Amino acid sequence: MNSDMIRALVSALPMPVLLIGSDQRVHIVNRAANAIVGVQAEGRHYMTALRAPAFIDCVETAFRDRVAATGRHLSYEMAHETLWAVRAEPLSGDGFSGVMVSFQDITALAAAGQMRRDFVANVSHELRTPLTALIGFIETLQGAARDDPTARGRFLAIMAHEAARMERLVSDLLSLNRVESEARVRPSAEVDLAPLLTSVRAALLPQATERGVAIEITTGDGDSLVRGDSDQLTQVVTNLVENAIKYAAAGRLVTIALTEAAMDPVLKRPAARIEVIDRGEGFEPVHIPRLTERFYRIDTHRSREEGGTGLGLAIVKHIVGRHRGRLSIDSTPGQGSRFTVILPLAETGA
Ligand code: ADP
Repeated sequence: MNSDMIRALVSALPMPVLLIGSDQRVHIVNRAANAIVGVQAEGRHYMTALRAPAFIDCVETAFRDRVAATGRHLSYEMAHETLWAVRAEPLSGDGFSGVMVSFQDITALAAAGQMRRDFVANVSHELRTPLTALIGFIETLQGAARDDPTARGRFLAIMAHEAARMERLVSDLLSLNRVESEARVRPSAEVDLAPLLTSVRAALLPQATERGVAIEITTGDGDSLVRGDSDQLTQVVTNLVENAIKYAAAGRLVTIALTEAAMDPVLKRPAARIEVIDRGEGFEPVHIPRLTERFYRIDTHRSREEGGTGLGLAIVKHIVGRHRGRLSIDSTPGQGSRFTVILPLAETGA
């Protein structure tokens, strides 16, 4: 194969590739590799083309031992980090002898691995706290408090509370798992949002009344029929209204408003809009981008006290995503928050 053909082949590869000749100089830098080493690298010794230990080690090994060598290289470009898997492969054939170095972008893969590890660490931590409390109380009941009926009653109440917390966490984790596994399956049933909101209100009324919070529903006369999974949409509204009750100061009103948007500017089609509005403590807007992350809480202590798992909004985000809708959040500290779920209206076929 002549060198023009080799150059054309290497250039056509979508991943960054360098060809280093037996003289240890860079012969070809393909287009994708320009961002890593720059075109001016051609003709230079490979050690000066990219002064990165992982790259130099791989190339050295491939030349010395005539075996493929791999490593990892982190590049920075305009505050953007990319993690590359580097592979140096010795080549020899008629017309060319040297080493071919290829770079595979594994940034997303590494980030997903990190997310998985963080998630496991978070779940373990969340479960360990109530579990430690339970073990402590069991030991106390077996020992010092064995014959103390008053203490027994009090400890059993705390144990029930901690066990319920673990149950809520496991149940939220399972919900999240189910929603994620169905993420690509579009719901096909037709759901009318108006009666759904009424039944969520009825179910949460005792909880609201206990805290001195009133819930009102306002509906326009627009369309409220969407394609959806009724149980999942009920969970979305329940999670948002439960939060509104938790974070609304006593005596305040929580509003659930249902309206139709003739044309949603983002979804670019007619949509139903459910707003859950509270007049509670609100929060600084800096938190908004992170609120739907798993286990993200503005005040962890407060959330735990309220029986929160830190997963409610993550579940909301996933369900809304599955319904091809969107979630928008506004809040003003001291005044309250508004969580808006926008869902595309079902095509009526008319
Ligand atoms: P949690 O179980 O902690 O309520 P969520 O995922 O439902 O978890 O919410 C994440 C965090 O968002 C909460 O811990 C709280 O800090 C904040 N948050 C959610 N809803 C509201 C609200 N209506 N008012 C104030 N803060 C809220």
